[in-house]
Amino acid sequence: MGYMILKKTRERSLVRRHPWIFSGAVEKKVGIEQNGQTVEIRSFGGEIMALAAWSEFSQICARVWTFDDNLKIDPDFIKSRLISSIEKRKVILNETDTNACRLVNAESDGIPGLIVDKYDEFLVCQFLSAGAEFWKKTIVQVLSEEIKPHGIYERSDTEVRTKEGFEKISGNLYGDLPPEIIQIKEHGINYAVNIKAGHKTGFYLDQSESRLILQEYCRQKEILNCFSYTGGFGIAALVAGATRVTNIDSSSESLNLLEQNLSLNGIDKSKSLQVEGDVFKILRTYRDSCKNFDVIILDPPKFAESKSQLMGALRGYKDINLLAFKLLNPGGLLFTFSCSGHIVPELFFKIVSEAATDSDREVQLIRTLSQSADHPVILNFPESHYLKGLICKVR
Ligand code: SAH
Repeated sequence: MGYMILKKTRERSLVRRHPWIFSGAVEKKVGIEQNGQTVEIRSFGGEIMALAAWSEFSQICARVWTFDDNLKIDPDFIKSRLISSIEKRKVILNETDTNACRLVNAESDGIPGLIVDKYDEFLVCQFLSAGAEFWKKTIVQVLSEEIKPHGIYERSDTEVRTKEGFEKISGNLYGDLPPEIIQIKEHGINYAVNIKAGHKTGFYLDQSESRLILQEYCRQKEILNCFSYTGGFGIAALVAGATRVTNIDSSSESLNLLEQNLSLNGIDKSKSLQVEGDVFKILRTYRDSCKNFDVIILDPPKFAESKSQLMGALRGYKDINLLAFKLLNPGGLLFTFSCSGHIVPELFFKIVSEAATDSDREVQLIRTLSQSADHPVILNFPESHYLKGLICKVR
């Protein structure tokens, strides 16, 4: 087996069980040939610290499979990791009012770079690292045997793939081609999901628990759902008895699907207003025309894709949160989120606090939110805790 020797000063993160090795940490590479192959990660002194998948073209040049060098990375290893990942979702897989969830959450489930989402009878996968790509055939075979889906579809058409030196691709991997729209159920609510063309694998499954929590606060409330996508939060609010929801998104396709979702749940369409446009601008026009809401949801896309975008992202978060605080009725609630991995929870808290101060409102934090449990967080891998949410109540 090929191996990498780490620089003496760069062993610390691996000792702390962080699963990524950056190319700058490598002193020497020996006998490494094939992209995605398994390599030993050795300390400067030559001791084996981990087994990892080599990524030839990425800054993250290896991703750890295991810190146990007695293990062998073979099809059985991949199978056992997949099975234990599926096992962890047994409760949600057995639910009768939900039929969509994340089955494999990459590093957090011990399979770096692999995402598998289940939408009713179909699976959607993303192979985002050389290691995941290397074991693709085995992965597809195990998933087909263990889950017995009607089909497995690949959505590896994301930017991260190019960093690993792969083409962006999508298409069928196994079984039937999925229909144009798959209807899923989440906590008894129906959503239409376009797994071929929707964002990520089609739906923001990571917000599932927060959508459920939102329902506790919506009865007879006037809601503003910013960055609505296909209406996840808005539909949940209406099902829970909200008086009216205003959904804002810049994508007309998303808003079209949102309208289908209203019909799928038998919701009176006059209760849902769809506004196509830029949240930053629309919140300003609402402020200028003194519009008010009881509950506002801010679930923007990743503002910081990289560290270099951090400052701009901070300004963006501050801006929308400040505007939202101003638009809330007394006693109103702000559900505010950040899914930027580069913004740690403390920093997000700080920006929202500053926005509260500048808005001149007295604000109480009543609950903190995170990604749903099927998107687990590994404590030694803070990057896996990417979704942060706060429920704030204004006086
Ligand atoms: N809350 C949604 C997911 C939101 S994803 C859910 O639970 O399903 C972020 C959405 O923001 C995307 O639909 C994208 O089209 C939209 N978006 C991105 N930038 C925007 C902007 N400046 N103004 C309005 N919408 C925007």
